Amino acid sequence: AAAAAAPPRLILDLEALQHLDTSEAGPLMRYTATIQAQRGDYNGKVLSIRQDDLRTLAVIYDESPTTLTERFISWGVLNPEARGEVEDAEA
Ligand code: C2E
Ligand code: C2E
Ligand code: C2E
Repeated sequence: AAAAAAPPRLILDLEALQHLDTSEAGPLMRYTATIQAQRGDYNGKVLSIRQDDLRTLAVIYDESPTTLTERFISWGVLNPEARGEVEDAEA
């Protein structure tokens, strides 16, 4: 294994996101669209996001960051390397 200098990034697959059911994925779709607008980054197939943004999304979805990470991976919108990247806050 390579000696990674940086932790795995959180990378959203924007094409996979388009094909999800809006009833479940709507908040993630709106959050992603907001980041794209703030950056003016509309042409990518993927979008790298901040650790803090996954924590914010966990609040929106009322789930722990690790549970939400697994959910997004199962939807196919988050890279599996992101697993374990975001730790839950101590109770
Ligand atoms: P900001 O947080 O004040 O960041 C200003 C600029 O610093 C960004 O302009 C970007 O060029 C650079 N920057 C800040 N943090 C990072 C980083 O982790 N990686 C890289 N590569 N560059 C960074 P930009 O991209 O035009 O974003 C403008 C503003 O939009 C940001 O101001 C921030 O308020 C918001 N924004 C953009 N992307 C994100 C995001 O992924 N999450 C959140 N929460 N806000 C974002
Ligand atoms: P990487 O981080 O592995 O990203 C690979 C490619 O995925 C990027 O190629 C780009 O096509 C796409 N990509 C990843 N995140 C985003 C995103 O948030 N928005 C968009 N539109 N595309 C994204 P690219 O642009 O040729 O960059 C090649 C490599 O250069 C990147 O590999 C990274 O190592 C570095 N790099 C590029 N931009 C930044 C940056 O803002 N900050 C840092 N730290 N590295 C960067
Ligand atoms: P990255 O650009 O490779 O940045 C990796 C990490 O370096 C960021 O992780 C953050 O901890 C730190 N960092 C980089 N630039 C800045 C900065 O200007 N200010 C501060 N305070 N920290 C910085 P983080 O936050 O988890 O972001 C992960 C990736 O998400 C970034 O990788 C970048 O690809 C993307 N990203 C995050 N915020 C922005 C933003 O505002 N604009 C753009 N264009 N990309 C962003």
